Amino acid sequence: MSDSLTLDLNHQRISAYVGNIVKVEADAIVNAANSSLLGGGGVDGAIHKAGGPEILEDCRRIVAQIHHLPPGQAVATTAGKLKARYVIHTVGPVFTGGYEGEPETLASCYRESLSRAEELQLHSIAFPAISTGVYGYPKEEAAKIAIQTVFESLGVATHVRRVDYVCFSRADFEIYNRLLKSYAAAHQIVSAEPQTHIKD
Ligand code: ADP
Repeated sequence: MSDSLTLDLNHQRISAYVGNIVKVEADAIVNAANSSLLGGGGVDGAIHKAGGPEILEDCRRIVAQIHHLPPGQAVATTAGKLKARYVIHTVGPVFTGGYEGEPETLASCYRESLSRAEELQLHSIAFPAISTGVYGYPKEEAAKIAIQTVFESLGVATHVRRVDYVCFSRADFEIYNRLLKSYAAAHQIVSAEPQTHIKD
């Protein structure tokens, strides 16, 4: 079975594939950051490690102004040495059962990240599965929100034409593959030939 899926909308494409987000060629990659913006583990640690100290310098400048980034918000920095041009940092909700506004906050992460990309007039953006690591959001529920919110936001986007879901494992990809296919079937969207956006 293939480990990537691309859906063709009118002038936009949504893809899911297995990969390491630090290697993705896109105008922006999204970081599942924490509110301090000063780095952490998981995808955050990988991005700072691969991108170098310029990203942290930019984060420090932002923190000096806003003190911390609340969950659901997003800010853009340089991508340092990465192939992407920008890193968009967003803070997902910590999952504590789903009744503390976690679904709304997670949706806001995707919406706000896409808003930053639109403001910067970017064409492509790649997302990790925000909140599904240390923050404990159930993967299937998180993927449903990621898909629903991205489709809604793309409907009103004027610059972003490509959105990638970068899945860190095959099991994570299978969730996106299944949910995207059923979303596509329900909305008469066709699958396109898969493309690769990862360069070693
Ligand atoms: P959070 O604190 O928001 O849960 P994590 O970084 O712990 O963030 O995990 C978010 C998701 O990112 C998890 O599904 C994890 O498997 C995935 N992940 C971790 N490293 C990478 C990477 N280098 N590229 C893509 N996804 C990654």
